Amino acid sequence: MRKRKMNLEEVLEKLKGKNVKRIGIQLPDGLKYKSEQIAEFFESKGYEVIISGSHCYGACDLDLDLLKEVDVLLHLAHTSIFELENVIYVPYYVDYDVEDFEDVEIEEKKIALIASAQYAWKLPEVKEFLESKGYEVELKTGSKRVKMPGQVLGCNYTVLRNSKAEAVLFVGDGLFHPIGAKIYSKKKVYRFCPLDKEFEEVKVDDFLKRRYLSISKALNAEKGAIIVSKKIGQKRLGLALSLKRKAKERGRSVEIIYLDDLSPQVLENFLYGYYVNTACPRISYDDIDLYSVPILTPQEFEITLGLRDWENYEVDEIL
Ligand code: SF4
Repeated sequence: MRKRKMNLEEVLEKLKGKNVKRIGIQLPDGLKYKSEQIAEFFESKGYEVIISGSHCYGACDLDLDLLKEVDVLLHLAHTSIFELENVIYVPYYVDYDVEDFEDVEIEEKKIALIASAQYAWKLPEVKEFLESKGYEVELKTGSKRVKMPGQVLGCNYTVLRNSKAEAVLFVGDGLFHPIGAKIYSKKKVYRFCPLDKEFEEVKVDDFLKRRYLSISKALNAEKGAIIVSKKIGQKRLGLALSLKRKAKERGRSVEIIYLDDLSPQVLENFLYGYYVNTACPRISYDDIDLYSVPILTPQEFEITLGLRDWENYEVDEIL
């Protein structure tokens, strides 16, 4: 397995001929340690550089304040969601060998192929390889929020919409995306990680139990609030207002809180018994242990309002 570096030479090519003096650099928190090296690279080519120190969670999270101060903002390590003038996305891909799929044995013969952004770039080759092993492979494009065939985000599984496959194969590390894919598609989901060659069928029982518990706790709480993010690709004010109206019609009172980064520290200053998160869905699902009160998704809030049955549980998506 080889890691592909972010291609900075390609960025230099894109900057050629443009009147660019000052560059902004935005990296996800896990890669911020690389910012010094990247800044020095562009400074050595004669550019002035400003590094974004704000949190960055995904391509949905552009530093628009920094963009006002620079000629070009380099948003590193994510594939694009928005085509904005003066923003250059520099993706970060993991390289792997398709021959490693030799040992992947799936009972079902008709499978849909999906992956997170770092792995999706190689899915056409994986498809070809699996087809040579006798599988019928579906590799579909999703909504405009995802750029590559088969690509899923923690907030978007549209590549599985109307899938005719009998099962899904997720390529990548971590369990978050395949769990989302299973709830979204209601099909059997397998995960293969090319990094450690781990292959498994993904189970969601524990995940759903914890969601059920959060919903029950929220049902017993007196007052709640709906969180709306200021981030360009997470802001769902319309949804929050609609949920507030629906809650009021059913005799439940909720306020709307508008903020930049949702964190336990920010919520410490409020006294609500539960929150409905319309920002990044991963906050509700992944960070559940960080919060002392339930952080529901919009769909879970609908269950508390009697607008949706538990049997129709759906994963939260931003389209
Ligand atoms: Fe990723 Fe969350 Fe942004 Fe979706 S909303 S792109 S899951 S950080």
